[in-house]
Amino acid sequence: MKPSIVGLALLLIGHSAWAQEVIRLRNRVFRPSQTASRVELTAHGSHYILQFGAFPGPSVRGELARRHIRVLGYVPDSALMVSSDGPPDLDGLGVTWFGRLDAADKMSPELSTDPVGAYLVIFQPDVNPLEERALVEAEGFDILDNPYLLPGQLLVTGDANSLPWLAASDWVAYILPASADLVSGSPVMGCAGPLTEAGPVAEYVAACAGWPKDSSGNVALQYFFESLTDKLDQATVEGEIERAFREWQKYGNITLSPGAQADAARTIAILFARGAHGDAYPFDGPGGVLAHTFYPAPQNGEPVAGDMHFDADESWQVGSAMDVFSVALHEAGHALGLGHSSIPGAVMYPYYRFSSGLTDDDIAGIRSLYGAAGSQTPAAPPVQPPAQPPVQPPVQPPAQPPAQPPVQPPVQPPAQPPAKPPTDITPPSLTILSPGSTIASTSSPSIHVSGTASDNVGVTAVKWSTSNGDSGDATGTTAWSADVPLLVGNTVVTVRAYDAAGNSGWRSVTVVRH
Ligand code: ZN
Ligand code: CA
Ligand code: ZN
Repeated sequence: MKPSIVGLALLLIGHSAWAQEVIRLRNRVFRPSQTASRVELTAHGSHYILQFGAFPGPSVRGELARRHIRVLGYVPDSALMVSSDGPPDLDGLGVTWFGRLDAADKMSPELSTDPVGAYLVIFQPDVNPLEERALVEAEGFDILDNPYLLPGQLLVTGDANSLPWLAASDWVAYILPASADLVSGSPVMGCAGPLTEAGPVAEYVAACAGWPKDSSGNVALQYFFESLTDKLDQATVEGEIERAFREWQKYGNITLSPGAQADAARTIAILFARGAHGDAYPFDGPGGVLAHTFYPAPQNGEPVAGDMHFDADESWQVGSAMDVFSVALHEAGHALGLGHSSIPGAVMYPYYRFSSGLTDDDIAGIRSLYGAAGSQTPAAPPVQPPAQPPVQPPVQPPAQPPAQPPVQPPVQPPAQPPAKPPTDITPPSLTILSPGSTIASTSSPSIHVSGTASDNVGVTAVKWSTSNGDSGDATGTTAWSADVPLLVGNTVVTVRAYDAAGNSGWRSVTVVRH
């Protein structure tokens, strides 16, 4: 580390904005004030997060470019993922913290609970493709070539135990399970992720919180068709995109209706354009990127918030290959604030196929932002995220030969279901603060796990369970903790917060006991 960087780190400790700012990663939300500022800058360059005292606007980003610091992505709330070829000059930029992603920040939680044997490795956008291939092969992985992959991504097979070493590479941005379609080479459509004015939103970043609710708790959005493809009949294109909006509106408590002008607030402008088209993200001609979408306000300013752009150079079709509805369905998820899902097969997985509607995972995602559609009527129970690995059932004694018919109990009148109070379908959200990453290791026979939980009505209980079959209640609710027993090897600890209506939200951490 160069002396100038050490001096900078010391200067930053007293910065007033430091304690208020949060870094929102998918696997970890943390306040840098509680984390040592650390970044090792090598002669070969490195990737690191710069956090600023305020949202990094165009003047800051322009100054970074002048200092040869590349902006690779936006990290909410006020940080950028950047890279530089040597120690950067950060003087006078308002940087309040800088640091790197941990290996655990780059590994999808789905990898630890559902190993599929094939992985999608997403690299930082400025890594040389030949070096990407050399890196995964050096870590013992085999590359599966797939013509549908976007640049900077590789499909690999290999030992799941080597994934943390791959994730530890400065070049790797995120690793998630590969879908069966990717492994088989079936036609899929790829998406590089939602956009913000400050940069793309990478897979390691937490999804946005969605459009702010109005004073009556509703989210009413408009859409406006600015320009359409000439490859299809106009009414057909509009109809397919509106059908995609209706699919989300069917499940989430949002409304989408035609608007009067493209640049009005809370309006999704829809544009087909080729090449450079007025934003910082020019299209790339046929193939590659098909479309892109800007996240909602406040992560983007109006009027660009929520806007969906389609590459006019694609051979747009209805009902096959480059299907307008399927692409619009995925992009509309981003326009509503969803990030990508790590669950293969979901519409919001980065590589999706021709689809006719949303999956359970997508529905859970939209409901986590806005609640269920028509929340005043009793709704179906919220879709639960996949449970932790099943606990082994106890060994059953051999089945008894069939005995005589069991004695019938006296006939009961059918029980009335208890009258339900107005349905609360919003699940609590839960955060594990300690351990501070999704993979932790220890030599002790238990681990102290703690965190927070919140809910629109109230958290009534926080419970933990492990892949070894142990379970129990945590102490506390909105701030909770638990001492969880471990066996030698890997234990998946799942902590679940419940509300009075029985909704639950959960997080897992994998603990390796040596
Ligand atoms: Zn996407
Ligand atoms: Ca394209
Ligand atoms: Zn665009």
